[in-house]
Amino acid sequence: MKSFKKITTGFVIQDYVILPNGTSVCQGQEFIAGDQVDYENRFGDDVTGQVDTTKEVYCPFDMVQPKRVPYNPVKEAYENGNCPDCGYEIDDNVQNGDCCPNCKHVFWDDEVDSSVTG
Ligand SMILES: [Zn+2]
Repeated sequence: MKSFKKITTGFVIQDYVILPNGTSVCQGQEFIAGDQVDYENRFGDDVTGQVDTTKEVYCPFDMVQPKRVPYNPVKEAYENGNCPDCGYEIDDNVQNGDCCPNCKHVFWDDEVDSSVTG
């Protein structure tokens, strides 16, 4: 055997955000390799157990992250990203509980984490 395919079973978790226009875009992804690894020769035959894995040079999974769109759930909670009281443009890095520097309105993302309610 001069070559083989290493087949790792696992899963991918992709983080999506829903933009104000309704489209959802992936902001990041994580590749989780499982314990199941199979080997095939170039004809597709199972050669698991025939490959000397101690000679295998480690190769990381090539995990390319998607291009992120600017997204802040607190800012997105306000129409056009502006303070509802005075119209001041909310900072891109605003966090829950921050105050409007102009009128002291307190900003909150009112999306409820359904895993902690009930
Ligand atoms: Zn304000």
